[in-house]
Amino acid sequence: MIPGAFAYHRPASVKEAVGLLAQFGDDGRALAGGHSLIPMMKLRLATPANLVDLAGIAELKGARTDGNDIVIGAMTTQHDLSGSELLSAKIPILRETSAQIADPQVRYLGTLGGNVANGDPGNDMPAVMICLNAIYHVVGKNGERRIVARQFYQGAYFTALEPGDVLTAIRIPVPAAGHGYAYEKLKRKIGDYATAAAAVVLTMSGGKVSTCSIGLTNVAETPLWAEDAGKILLGSTLDAATVKRAVAAAEAITAPAADARGPAQYRTKMAGVMLTRALARAQSRARG
Ligand SMILES: Cc1cc2nc3c(=O)[nH]c(=O)nc-3n(C[C@H](O)[C@H](O)[C@H](O)COP(=O)(O)OP(=O)(O)OC[C@H]3O[C@@H](n4cnc5c(N)ncnc54)[C@H](O)[C@@H]3O)c2cc1C
Repeated sequence: MIPGAFAYHRPASVKEAVGLLAQFGDDGRALAGGHSLIPMMKLRLATPANLVDLAGIAELKGARTDGNDIVIGAMTTQHDLSGSELLSAKIPILRETSAQIADPQVRYLGTLGGNVANGDPGNDMPAVMICLNAIYHVVGKNGERRIVARQFYQGAYFTALEPGDVLTAIRIPVPAAGHGYAYEKLKRKIGDYATAAAAVVLTMSGGKVSTCSIGLTNVAETPLWAEDAGKILLGSTLDAATVKRAVAAAEAITAPAADARGPAQYRTKMAGVMLTRALARAQSRARG
């Protein structure tokens, strides 16, 4: 299918991009890697009259350390995330998650910013950002503001972004050295979106869980932070009975749609299976 007609704009700075998007209002859309937006345009589910391509804005690319945080430019590709030595050393769950998104062709162009700004519950990075307690830097016509990932997602394809906003960077507090992590994703085939997936980041001390954060993908209209499940695990050795209680708490907050990936009840159960696996793998990687 061929998308409808649109005008193409290629600003060289965030300021210019925000100016164009503010001018176009509902008739304009930011374009990042295009691997969600262009398919939507081909299906005529999105019909923007103006595309504002962010690819020419150098300041939106790359990752840097800022105090105890790492700040990743929104136009950093999923392939770049996998190849970054800084990110692999400090936040290895990003590499593990990137590797499970689509296929290399999508990952070469698809960006972290596009993945988290898109608002598709099937995107993998939002649950990971919620798990890591990331903060999104957003620039709009009234200047810059910061939005906590855990408060960003409002419904399927509805986020805290307003027309004219550009997501410029994702700020992630670096998890403690020796933390355990895992992203477990069930998909029907290579390149598929998740039937259900779970992100876990935890720390252990004396064989017991000191901190634990859990994110869930594609089992509700938004990515989910399973806060209560994480709390249940605190102080435990991740023994089977406690894990079972935590998994039940996580399953209880899911509300998946029935679709080609299976009925709702199945997807809820698969979220529980993914979480059980992610906890075991995170524990095996944790020091302490
Ligand atoms: C075959 C296929 C399989 C896929 N499988 C998966 C998968 O398993 N898991 C997964 O997570 N994703 C998957 N994707 C989606 C892919 O990861 C996309 O690249 C990603 O969802 C969007 O990133 P993008 O850079 O391509 O953004 P685009 O498609 O360019 O943009 C997506 C949306 O975000 C907005 N946007 C983008 N960047 C910004 C910004 N900086 N500021 C404000 N708004 C912005 C755009 O306006 C648009 O509304 C798949 C895609 C394809 C084609």
